[in-house]
Amino acid sequence: MGLKQYVQNVKFRTGMANCREYIDLIYDVIDNQSSPSQEQYLRRHLKLCLKCVDALNLEKELKKAIQLKSVHQEVPKDLADSIKNKIAKSTP
Ligand SMILES: [Zn+2]
Repeated sequence: MGLKQYVQNVKFRTGMANCREYIDLIYDVIDNQSSPSQEQYLRRHLKLCLKCVDALNLEKELKKAIQLKSVHQEVPKDLADSIKNKIAKSTP
C-alpha cells in the first residue's frame, strides 16, 4: 500500500475525508477498483451526504449511457473525464 493510499484510508476510517476524496472513491467503486473496506467508508458517507449520492447516481447513469452508446458508435474519449472534472470542481 502506498503512502497516499494509507493516508486516505486513515482519513476515511476517522471520517476526516472530504467529499472530493469520497468522489474519487465513487469512481473506484463504479469501476470495481475499490477494496471492500473502501466501499464501506463510501456507503457510510453516502448516508450523510446527498451531494455524493447525486455524484454516484450521475456516474452510474453516465457509465450506463456510455456502455449503451459504445455498442453502436465511438464515444469521445475525454467526455467522461470532462464530466468528472465538472463534478470535482463543483464540490468544495
Ligand atoms: Zn459528500
